[in-house]
Amino acid sequence: MKKLMPFLASILVLAACGSTPSSAGKEYVIYSDNAFAPFEFLDTAANAYTGVDMDLLAAIAKDQGFSYAVKNEGFDAAMGAVQSGQADGMIAGMTITDKRKETFDFSEGYFQDGQILVVAEGSSISGLEDLNGQAAAVKTSTQGADYAQSISDQYGFTLQFYEDSPTMYTAVINGINAACFEDFSVIGWAIKNDGLALKTVGDIINPGAYGFATKKGSSPELLDMFNKGLASIKSNGQYDEILARYGY
Ligand code: GLN
Repeated sequence: MKKLMPFLASILVLAACGSTPSSAGKEYVIYSDNAFAPFEFLDTAANAYTGVDMDLLAAIAKDQGFSYAVKNEGFDAAMGAVQSGQADGMIAGMTITDKRKETFDFSEGYFQDGQILVVAEGSSISGLEDLNGQAAAVKTSTQGADYAQSISDQYGFTLQFYEDSPTMYTAVINGINAACFEDFSVIGWAIKNDGLALKTVGDIINPGAYGFATKKGSSPELLDMFNKGLASIKSNGQYDEILARYGY
């Protein structure tokens, strides 16, 4: 055994050197939202996160042969983790925007969505004008929050920030806030599948595509694998299969 030690040590050194330039053996850390069905949500029976984003990431990683660990910590936490270098990337129903492109690199878009105004089922609010003098619920760091902020002076309403979508919905259902802004597909799913006493008002705002994101300039190899894997699962039918699982 004594004789073996230097030999084993040199193998370890070689292995460590060998893994530096390539991504072989690296486990990427990917952050995500924690309650954003149908994109990522806790399957309570399986006690595991599931959803379109989770399934797409799994299929893409398999296709490209990279390993990863997902941390479902919430949207704002994911943005922070990517920017601080704690995460290699994030997939969280994140809309590709010009403003975010200043600090993130994005994959090709993989799903089209946009935001919409949401009110309680029995509410008489029929447009932004009716928000005058009221407080709207928004989710920290989201495009819905950005949009609400950009029009709040014009329409005379204030904002109340929440960390996750379910808490924001509850505030509207309970009448704490008059309305919220949420992604159309996500609120549609919540109303249909969770029977929430909410309704949408008006048209989709800021339509755009969801993308996988990395910190700007930090992980071109990961983005490249994501794009290649996405193209591959689109051409072999897996992408359609995954979306169909969630009713698309
Ligand atoms: N699509 C929205 C955004 O990018 C919301 C994302 C989310 O809440 N997970 O801001």
